[in-house]
Amino acid sequence: MNTLKAVRGTRDLLPPETELWNRIEATARSVFGRYNFGEIRTPIFEDTQLFARGVGEETDIVSKEMYTWEDRARAQSEKAQSLTLRPENTAGAVRAYIEHQLGESGMLQKLYYIGPQFRRERPQKGRYRQFYQIGAEVIGPPSAGSESPLRDAELLEMLAGLLDELGITGWKLLINSVGSSTDRPRYIAALKEALKDLAPTMCVDCQRRAETNPLRVLDCKVPEDQPKIESLPRIADYLDEASQAHFAAVRAALDACGVEYEISHRLVRGLDYYTRTTFEFQHGGLGAQNALLGGGRYDGLSEMIGGPKAPGIGFAIGADRLVLTLEAQAGQVVPTLADAYIAPLGDARNPDALVLARELRRAGLRIDVGDGSFRIKKSFETGNKLARNIVLLGEDEVQSGMLTVKNFASGEQTKIAREQLASALTAPHE
Ligand code: AMP
Repeated sequence: MNTLKAVRGTRDLLPPETELWNRIEATARSVFGRYNFGEIRTPIFEDTQLFARGVGEETDIVSKEMYTWEDRARAQSEKAQSLTLRPENTAGAVRAYIEHQLGESGMLQKLYYIGPQFRRERPQKGRYRQFYQIGAEVIGPPSAGSESPLRDAELLEMLAGLLDELGITGWKLLINSVGSSTDRPRYIAALKEALKDLAPTMCVDCQRRAETNPLRVLDCKVPEDQPKIESLPRIADYLDEASQAHFAAVRAALDACGVEYEISHRLVRGLDYYTRTTFEFQHGGLGAQNALLGGGRYDGLSEMIGGPKAPGIGFAIGADRLVLTLEAQAGQVVPTLADAYIAPLGDARNPDALVLARELRRAGLRIDVGDGSFRIKKSFETGNKLARNIVLLGEDEVQSGMLTVKNFASGEQTKIAREQLASALTAPHE
C-alpha cells in the first residue's frame, strides 16, 4: 500500500519549530494588544461570491488559485452553494464587520487575526498551498477617522516595531499610493494605452495581464521586460490633489517617528480592493518570495461586498516567512529542555514518580517522567536528552524525602529535600 503523505503544498509543523511559531504569535498578540486591537476569528470557508466580489474576479487568486467546491444540499430547504477555502482574511473580516453592523457603534474597529489561508499556487520555499497569516484591519465609518493618513502611519509604525521586537533584522519597507477609486481608472486607461504597443513585445503573462489586469504588469519579474516596464506611465502622476496630500501626510508621520521606507512606484499588489496607500515589508534572506508581509488601504471594499461606506486599511504577514527568516538568522531551533527528568527506580516507584511530577508541575516546572522498567543507564541517557536535571526516585528517596538530583551541565550530584526541590530545580534565568 502507498504510504499516505501530507498533500503537496501543505506541511506538518513539528516541535521544536512550533515553539518558534508560538513565540511569534505571542509577540504579535502582545504588540497588537498594546495598539488596542481585538482578535477576530472568521470561518475557514466562505461563500465563493465573497472573494469573487471582494478580491476581484481577474486577480490570480480568484481566477486560478482558490479551493472551491459545490457544497451539496443536505435537505430540501438547503440550496447547493459554492464554497471556498479562504485565500486571505480581509474579505472575511469586512464581511463580519458588515454582518454584525460593527460600524453602527460609530467607532473605529481594530481587529487582528491569526490563521491558515489556502491558495493553489506552485509550491516552493516560502510559498505553500496552506500557509499562515497574521493580519490586522482598521475599519470604520469616515466619521471615526478611518480615512485618516494617521491610521496608515500608525499601522506601519506598529509593523516596524513588531518586526524589531521579533528580532528580524534587515527588513525593508516599500510604500506607494495606488490612488483613489477615481484616480485608478484614469491611470489604468493610460497604462492600457501605453501597453497597446508594448505588451506584444513582452512575456506571455504580461500580454495576458495587459488585457485582464494591466496593473499586474508592474509586478513582472522577467529581466527583459524591466526596461519596458520602467518606461510605462507612473501612478504618482495620476493622483489627484487629495490622494497626493494623503500620501504626503502618511510619509510625514512616518518621518516624524523615524520609520524608514522607500517609495516604490511599482508596488500595486495583487488584490483589486486596494486604494491609496499600499505597502510591503521585504527581506533579502527569503530569496524569490521576498515579501514578509503586505497590505494597504481599501476604502471601497465594504461597498464592493454590499456594505456601508467603511474605509479601512490592513495587512497580512506571512507567518511561514517570519519563521524562515528567524531560523536563517538564528540557525537551528533548539528544543526547550525540561527542568527535570524523574527516573523511577523499579516499576513499583512509577506511582510515586507520578505524584512527584504532579507536585513539581503544579509548582510551575517543566517535568518529564521516565519508566521504572528502564535500566539506570537508559534513564540517564534519556534524561540527558530531555532535561537539565535528573531526579532519581527509589524506595529510599520516597521514605526519607531526600532526593538524588544530578545536574547534567555541571555533572554535580546532590541530595535535596523534597520541599526544596521545586525552587532548586527552577532555571536561574526563568
Ligand atoms: P497577500 O495576502 O497576497 O497580500 O499576501 C500577504 C503575505 O502573505 C505575503 O507578503 C506573504 O508573506 C504571505 N503569503 C501570501 N501567499 C503565500 C503563500 N502561498 N505561502 C506563504 N506565504 C504567503
